[in-house]
Amino acid sequence: MIRVERVCTVCGRSISRRRKWGPDGESVEHCSDACRRQGLSQKDRRTEQVIIDLLQRRAPDATICPSEAARAVADGEEWRMEMERVRRAARRLHRAGRIQITQKGQVVSPDRAKGPIRLRLRGVGMQV
Ligand SMILES: [Zn+2]
Repeated sequence: MIRVERVCTVCGRSISRRRKWGPDGESVEHCSDACRRQGLSQKDRRTEQVIIDLLQRRAPDATICPSEAARAVADGEEWRMEMERVRRAARRLHRAGRIQITQKGQVVSPDRAKGPIRLRLRGVGMQV
């Protein structure tokens, strides 16, 4: 049997086996009730594009700090409030194979990344 890893459509984290099926046997798309309630807003979608745009303006193997994307998304508002939005978007993009999340130059799984991360376009190094 092929084991398909399910990923939360909101935060990009793996959905634990325990949560894989809902009470009625339907497949679940979210890792938690919080993510299910939150859903994806237009701003969340725009945040993905902001990350891609920032990276495409750099050298192919260059990285950005998520705070750069947060500043662009915040547009003069308090950018720290946007950091979690950026991190969620980064995990979704990583899962979609569009970018890589790195720590100390190594690609890391979105589930394991703890602490500061950097983002780069996919194509350098191995996908986790
Ligand atoms: Zn989630």
